[in-house]
Amino acid sequence: MNSSNYLYDSVFGHTVDSKKSFLINKNGEMSYENFHQLVNKLANTLKFSGLKTGDRVAVQAEKSNVQIALYVATIKSGGVYLPLNTDYTVNELEYFINDSEASIVVIDSNNEDSIKKTIKDKSIKILTLNGNETGSLTSLSSKQDKVFDAVPRNSEDLAAILYTSGTTGRSKGAQLTHKNLLSNTKVLKDFWKFNENDVLLHMLPIYHTHGLFVACNLLAYVGGSMIFLPKFDTEQTLKWIKSANTMMGVPTFYTRLLNEDRFDKKSTEHMRLFISGSAPLLAETHVEFEKRTGKKIIERYGMTETNMNTSNPYDGPRIAGTVGLPLPGVELRISDNKGKEVNRGEIGIIELRGDNVFKGYWQMPEKTAESFREDGFFITGDMARIDENGYVIIVGRDKDLIITGGLNVYPKEVEDLIDEIDSVNESAVIAVPHSDFGEAVVSIVVRKKDSVNEQDIKDHLSERIAKFKQPKKIIFANNLPRNTMGKVQKSELRKKYQDLFNN
Ligand code: AMP
Repeated sequence: MNSSNYLYDSVFGHTVDSKKSFLINKNGEMSYENFHQLVNKLANTLKFSGLKTGDRVAVQAEKSNVQIALYVATIKSGGVYLPLNTDYTVNELEYFINDSEASIVVIDSNNEDSIKKTIKDKSIKILTLNGNETGSLTSLSSKQDKVFDAVPRNSEDLAAILYTSGTTGRSKGAQLTHKNLLSNTKVLKDFWKFNENDVLLHMLPIYHTHGLFVACNLLAYVGGSMIFLPKFDTEQTLKWIKSANTMMGVPTFYTRLLNEDRFDKKSTEHMRLFISGSAPLLAETHVEFEKRTGKKIIERYGMTETNMNTSNPYDGPRIAGTVGLPLPGVELRISDNKGKEVNRGEIGIIELRGDNVFKGYWQMPEKTAESFREDGFFITGDMARIDENGYVIIVGRDKDLIITGGLNVYPKEVEDLIDEIDSVNESAVIAVPHSDFGEAVVSIVVRKKDSVNEQDIKDHLSERIAKFKQPKKIIFANNLPRNTMGKVQKSELRKKYQDLFNN
């Protein structure tokens, strides 16, 4: 019989100098000792509120020290953590709470009344947690004991369910096991050389795999510290970066920092590592960042369902425009839509297998079956090729692929060429219904200066790519719609421009 808690024991339960700071922010420093006392009080609160082993704890709250302790408390008390994007409306919350059959729901006090009205099942315990760490959760926990014995859980047990953003249809709950999370943490520690001296500048949301698992599990595992800020802000970055030596961000963090002259060699010379992921980092940003700071960002690629899959190396070449090499223990192949591996250099769909890959979608056996090959590889839906050095180059999502007059156009190829133009800031290439071609290539372009016009872009492209890949229409916009993780919302663009050709 295994009497340990697989994830908790390795990542959080090991000995660290108890006086050392784990979380740092404007309110002060929280030591590992105080953090663990808080975790235990919260774990006792969850038990007191009726949590049984395997129960889901759904949480929608502003980022705070208490929230990260609540995540650890859920794992320690044998529960399954279910973090929810703070942008979700009460209606959306109702779906997640019902679908996951959560037994405890932790929400901001502002939503308490509407959630209580919406949720029919009165056995669900509703607690509140506000951004300033007040609410019924903290007041109940202040009366609880600061000692708690971890509930046994094994490697295959669920640790968390994270709902994917789901641009079409119902959002799916990715089930992540204790093994999925621990294996990835161990791999990243070695690959990026994290250790107890690291201080991570943490400005990511903690309802997503990047800010929650990649960052928090890793820093706790090595016994490091985190400067734990509510969100990204250029001024705050400039202030706090002085005390950090590592940073994880989405590409927009880096592009915004580059807009600030004070972000330079001097302000970053002490930094050991900058990591980017969750959305494509423009090669141009990578190059400009190196020019400005003398440092090369490490770009990596991951997903809610799989944790981290590839990364540019720590010691070897960090190549702009690539997501690097498969991480140790991650099997990656590029396949056609039947699951047959394509030749090296050809474009296909990324398929993955390894301890990092999730257990399937919560209560969706058919969706789960459709998403895996018979030999256990997960079909990611990301299209990519592998270059001659083994580096993975992502060209877009399969659903973003454009088929125009029967020919395939990979949006990234066209976007990269448009982005090369000096006066262009960024672009998105999408498919728009067209009576003649089925789908037409359309490009939405954000300019740095008005000096570039449609004809300039057309001229630039006509020398470089086949006619069928060139946009039938170029639309200028002030910005591209992005979610909090910096991903361009192409489904929104497709919807907005669906009648462009008035079919
Ligand atoms: P999520 O599940 O929200 O983390 O989104 C995962 C998706 O983000 C992946 O399937 C990719 O499409 C995209 N993604 C993550 N990292 C990168 C990256 N470095 N470059 C390009 N796309 C990325």
